[in-house]
Amino acid sequence: MYIYYIGIGSNLGDREGYLAFAVSELTNTDGVRSVNHSSWIETPPWGPVEQGPFLNGILKVEATLTPLVMLDTILHIERLAGRQREIHWGPRTLDLDIVWIEDEADQCVQVNTANLVVPHPYFWERIFVLEPLQEIYPQFIYQGVSIHNRLEELRAIES
Ligand code: ATP
Ligand code: CA
Ligand code: CA
Repeated sequence: MYIYYIGIGSNLGDREGYLAFAVSELTNTDGVRSVNHSSWIETPPWGPVEQGPFLNGILKVEATLTPLVMLDTILHIERLAGRQREIHWGPRTLDLDIVWIEDEADQCVQVNTANLVVPHPYFWERIFVLEPLQEIYPQFIYQGVSIHNRLEELRAIES
């Protein structure tokens, strides 16, 4: 059994509908035991491309699926949601990123393959990931730093 923390975002069309669609597709996936999620928060777009605001959140998914099978599952759900891969970091109906994985002993699971890198390489830099992660996993600590302190750091840098 694994616990997956999956970043979710949408900034095209019925954003809330796409997030709800992903929750329902995951809930109905074989090997998925439970799906919980943070509140959805509206966040300004990130990166160099001019685009509309995102609705972001974090899903907490308990599943027996291995990380590579989970990656296939979320990429499939993105496709079902009409995701088109045109502009890197551009607007999208649905984006699902595996941010963090733990095993049943609460140990961090690391993955480093051509198609999947976990922990997600940028998660610790992104307020729109850490804010909902803090809501669903307030005791989270990474490299000795609490998520609370990290968010304060990032907010100080931003302002
Ligand atoms: P970013 O990863 O910086 O948030 P992005 O989400 O826009 O950017 P995508 O175009 O959605 O990037 O993803 C491209 C590829 O990233 C996917 O096809 C997948 O193989 C790979 N990938 C590597 N690590 C992960 C991960 N932890 N979660 C999801 N996809 C990943
Ligand atoms: Ca992403
Ligand atoms: Ca992605």
